[in-house]
Amino acid sequence: MIQKSNSTIEVNLSQLKQNLQTLRSYLDSDTRVMSVVKADAYGHGAVEVAGTLEPMVEVFAVNDIHEGIQLRKQDITKPILVFEVPQKTTASEYRVHNLTATVSAKEHFDLLPNGTSYHLNFDTGMGRLGFAPREAEQVLSLVEENQNLFCTGLYSHFATADSPGSDLVTEQHRLFKKIREQFPQELSAHIANTGATAFYSAEKFDMVRLGIGLYGYAPGKTDIDGVEPILQWKSKLVQVKPITEQSTVSYGANWQAPTDGNLGIIPVGYDDGLKRSLSEELTVRINGETYPLVGTVTMNYCMVFLGDDEYEPGTTVELLYKESNARDWASKIGTIPYEVLTSLNPKIPREYIL
Ligand SMILES: *Cc1c(COP(=O)(O)O)cnc(C)c1O
Repeated sequence: MIQKSNSTIEVNLSQLKQNLQTLRSYLDSDTRVMSVVKADAYGHGAVEVAGTLEPMVEVFAVNDIHEGIQLRKQDITKPILVFEVPQKTTASEYRVHNLTATVSAKEHFDLLPNGTSYHLNFDTGMGRLGFAPREAEQVLSLVEENQNLFCTGLYSHFATADSPGSDLVTEQHRLFKKIREQFPQELSAHIANTGATAFYSAEKFDMVRLGIGLYGYAPGKTDIDGVEPILQWKSKLVQVKPITEQSTVSYGANWQAPTDGNLGIIPVGYDDGLKRSLSEELTVRINGETYPLVGTVTMNYCMVFLGDDEYEPGTTVELLYKESNARDWASKIGTIPYEVLTSLNPKIPREYIL
């Protein structure tokens, strides 16, 4: 992959560890943690995140099998659960790379080769993958018939745990508890994501699956005290030029300078993950001062109005920072921090701060 050189993403690995410690304070001491590092650890870099967390967590989870293989190739040795539906073309890779598959439909038993480990997935209300709760007895028979495969866990996923007080969470919890009771106790049972871990006091079963909280964000509008974003995005001004009152900036000529002043050009655009819908919605920080992004965000550039202030080309510009983080961006454009983070182009170099 050819890396871009117009901006850098800094990831603070000690804050990552701190976030894990904070989330652990919600758990009993014997509850295990599965660290969810799918989508390249929500854009932070799965290899570095997993390498940092490996001594502190019990299991990792990825979405697709290739993400699991990547971690194995980088010497991650803890168990790795793969969420995706097993595919015929890659079914043999689970065993080869010691990855745990997810069985979420009857046909998956036949797809997986002898010796593959798996967790069962039940749909208790998410309305996505998984067996129906009423199929539990039949699924147990299939587990017993398929002695060539190793069932090591069972799980489900909440649809509404991103904020406190949801009745659906209570209902899903009840259904999962009932299913859990029908299966051997030694199987590892897990249902809680970040939201369920922080916002609900109900039993967490054997393990929780933490994603967004590790990266320092709450899943919804309710904060989680003590978790802080671990990622900052920085670029540099490539050009600064004087503009006159009423001159327009960028496509559509929608923005007009209110006064004479300086315009800074930043070499970052929607190709990098700076959403076009954030045009004129953001402030960037230069030298500790904040300035508004003006005009439409283009594919490779966006513009900042500096008023009378003058900066040299090459001056650092902070795009994502504490006071303007992925949650602030998300709320301006009606999305969630997950989408902002995973939209950051993988070609932007990640720098890791210990
Ligand atoms: C992504 C995901 C998680 C992690 O959720 P967060 O809200 O990021 O903590 C847990 N379980 C499953 C099945 C997921 O897909």
